[in-house]
Amino acid sequence: MKHIILFGPPGSGKGTQAQKLIEKYRLYHISTGDLFRAEIAASSPLGLQAQDFMNKGILVPDEVTLGMLRNKLNSLKDVNGIIYDGFPRTIAQAEALDHMLNENNECINALISLEVTDDEIVHRIMLRGQTSGRADDLDESIIRKRMDEYRSKTSSVFNYYKQMNVTHQVKGIGTVEEIFDNLCAVMDRIA
Ligand code: AMP
Repeated sequence: MKHIILFGPPGSGKGTQAQKLIEKYRLYHISTGDLFRAEIAASSPLGLQAQDFMNKGILVPDEVTLGMLRNKLNSLKDVNGIIYDGFPRTIAQAEALDHMLNENNECINALISLEVTDDEIVHRIMLRGQTSGRADDLDESIIRKRMDEYRSKTSSVFNYYKQMNVTHQVKGIGTVEEIFDNLCAVMDRIA
């Protein structure tokens, strides 16, 4: 079973590309952002816990995120592999994920990083905000906060996996199809 992390800052196209990758490679998509939004829509206790952090553009605490992820992984049966989108976002999350996978003699096979510039990110997220219905996509100060969180807490996750020799960098600028082709070239090498 393959475990692939699709990595990159908010707005780098992870969600869009993950959808295409799961279709082509028959994988299961885990987006912690989507899981949180579903919990919020259901007004669950977990959703209520996460909501405040998300509205401010800051990361939900690791113990809350990890509890949710663990439940999700335990509920999966007969999947070929998983694409993680928006997770892990801290070194502690990465260590916890590795630990969970190692318990089943599995590991992260690849981390693929979408490389996009800051200006492109703000532009893309503001554009997405017009249709996504996400409050955190509409306010430039919250978008900047999410980028700060990425820089201060998430970007080091790349180096964590680089030490394990599983990282790949892909140009994340171009049309959706061009970027997808760049990703598939890596996926086909690790398949
Ligand atoms: P996303 O949909 O991936 O952009 O995530 C939206 C928001 O959900 C983030 O700004 C965080 O507040 C929260 N979130 C999603 N995934 C995580 C995670 N792995 N760790 C902590 N917070 C997360």
